Amino acid sequence: MSAILLNADLHSHSTVSDGVLTPSDLAIRAKRNGVELWALTDHDEVSGVAEARAAAADLRLPFVAGVEVSVTWAGKTVHIVGLQVDETNPQLLAGLANTRSGRERRARDMAQDLQQRAGIAGVYEGALKYVGNPDLISRSHFARYLAEIGAASSVSDAFKHFLTEGKPGYVPHRWANLNEAVSWIREAGGVAVIAHPGRYDLTPLAFDCFFREFKAFGGVAIETVTGSHTVDQYAEYAGIAARYGFLSSRGSDFHSPEDFEVDIGHLQALPRDSVPVWEHWRFD
Ligand code: AMP
Ligand code: MN
Ligand code: MN
Ligand code: MN
Repeated sequence: MSAILLNADLHSHSTVSDGVLTPSDLAIRAKRNGVELWALTDHDEVSGVAEARAAAADLRLPFVAGVEVSVTWAGKTVHIVGLQVDETNPQLLAGLANTRSGRERRARDMAQDLQQRAGIAGVYEGALKYVGNPDLISRSHFARYLAEIGAASSVSDAFKHFLTEGKPGYVPHRWANLNEAVSWIREAGGVAVIAHPGRYDLTPLAFDCFFREFKAFGGVAIETVTGSHTVDQYAEYAGIAARYGFLSSRGSDFHSPEDFEVDIGHLQALPRDSVPVWEHWRFD
């Protein structure tokens, strides 16, 4: 079978970051949904990889160790996925630990801002109920709690009224540099991929600069087909990949059975002219 038709899902989250399924349960869902090559890509964390790999092996599901690194580029947050990383690499582990380190302080500041600007108290403690890894408290956990108490009608509604720029609960944060993130991934033997480029609020000029810098640092792929892209964006980013010489990745960015745009394994195929990031990978 041609590589492009493989049901690869190379972007998903477990309880080790802001997903709601454990790595093992995620493996089961991926297998059940027909995934043929699966990556776990928790935010700034690789501590779920060992469990995910073992669960995938039991299910005979080819597995790729991954991570999604939070990056600040030109004052904006962007995400860089690392695939095929050695999750024991000391540089990668140190870089990720450093990237995670500000999350606790930020979460307390977010809760304080929600109390002061929206009159909602106790959100830090409330969000903690949803946190699977105390090192990785994220806006998703806040959003789930805001939906639970009825301050928002859903998780996505919580991101419309809170937690985003200009809204209560938003606290600017400085993540890793682009160069650092790509370097850690490469030092760990992985390939760096720009996650969901369609979600970034960048001008065409800034996008051009971002793609060139990423490539100059050794980045090789972009997510062409991902849960938050429209069908038009699949074609648009296939075109970008061709123009900049990037490989294409495909991943749902699945977080939760209750709240997802595309279920794990249920994505459309890559556009025919794209070169899959997994084309020359060996797995059985
Ligand atoms: P953080 O790393 O703490 O800033 O949280 C980022 C996470 O929030 C993303 O990985 C998504 O899972 C989630 N998120 C951000 N924006 C939205 C949105 N509009 N709807 C649903 N989830 C979102
Ligand atoms: Mn997330
Ligand atoms: Mn992301
Ligand atoms: Mn993600």
